[in-house]
Amino acid sequence: MSRFWNKLVATLDPYVPGEQPRIQNLVKLNTNEHPYGPSPKVLAAIAAHTNDSLRLYPDPTALVLRQAIAKRFALTPDHVFVGNGSDEVLGHVFHALLKQDAPVWFPDITYSFYPVYCGLYQIQFRAIPLDEHFKIAVTDYLPGSVGATTAAVPAGTSASDAGRAGGIIFPNPNAPTGCANPLAEVERIIAANPDIVVVVDEAYVDFGAQTAAALIEKYPNLLVVHTLSKSRSLAGLRVGYALGHPDLIQGLDRVKNSFNSYPLDNLALAGATAAIEDEAYFETSRNAVIRTRNALTAGLQNLGFEVLPSAANFVFARHPSHKGADLAAGLRAKNILVRHFNKPRIADFLRITVGTDEECAQLLTACRELVGQ
Ligand code: PMP
Repeated sequence: MSRFWNKLVATLDPYVPGEQPRIQNLVKLNTNEHPYGPSPKVLAAIAAHTNDSLRLYPDPTALVLRQAIAKRFALTPDHVFVGNGSDEVLGHVFHALLKQDAPVWFPDITYSFYPVYCGLYQIQFRAIPLDEHFKIAVTDYLPGSVGATTAAVPAGTSASDAGRAGGIIFPNPNAPTGCANPLAEVERIIAANPDIVVVVDEAYVDFGAQTAAALIEKYPNLLVVHTLSKSRSLAGLRVGYALGHPDLIQGLDRVKNSFNSYPLDNLALAGATAAIEDEAYFETSRNAVIRTRNALTAGLQNLGFEVLPSAANFVFARHPSHKGADLAAGLRAKNILVRHFNKPRIADFLRITVGTDEECAQLLTACRELVGQ
């Protein structure tokens, strides 16, 4: 606390990212990074740079990257917005599109950055509880639904806005549960809310869920957000993007160009473009993660864990006779890092990133010792 902070800064409750410790021989399964590196073509594209790449400013419109992304989704570049990681894209989305008179709705158990953006941009929100299977209940997101009337109404919401959403955002698959909703359910939410923006955060979609990208031409209120951090193994390069109707993209551009004209540097632009263009590498490496996830799930179930059905590059699991915090601490003592959230309903779960086969075998051995089987 400092007397030089403004009033808003003093109220912020910032996001806390997973640890990035520099410890030797650590099995790091806590931040959903991809266990294999990016396409070799990414490294080649970055290595091919000359000193002009650093001397000159990058293209503020990131046109070449937006063209590559647009081509992959059979869209035009005016449907594509890019940013410094999807966290930055999401920040602009909250600022430009989800800050409305009525509160933004999102699940109570979800990506914990959403309420943080609301704090920064002073946006009212309403957390809609997941159902008893930790899934997003689509009917809660339809206007006039049960969810609309049972979830707590945020302070400061006017009576006329109480049952109304100003915007909706949810990840599909959800995080940290890993559970996905089928595309038909996602479409039901988009179609039922034509007058507000519905944002589908598809950070993990490539590991087993269906993307809503093909619905963009049909629904001008749909925005799909992707990242290159997960399935393209580029968390260190910081590139994310949004797909949507050009009107939505222009709104995001207005905010971006009032904030930072050059969020993507020349190395990131070249590396990200090469990653998007290498479809063969993408297919092979994401399938390797999916295979390992399925083996990891079976291994944990054999030890008595309940594992939620995952369509992501992580699993969310709990053991009936061991506390989540104790298991996380026990694993840490064995040099294995997983993510534990000390929050209502999920305090006994561990979120375990799918690592290499070897890392997952080490995790299972450690879990076997901890649960005594
Ligand atoms: N959305 C979700 C659901 C996530 O879990 C993450 C990763 N923390 C992000 C967005 C942001 O990823 P990045 O900024 O690396 O693109």
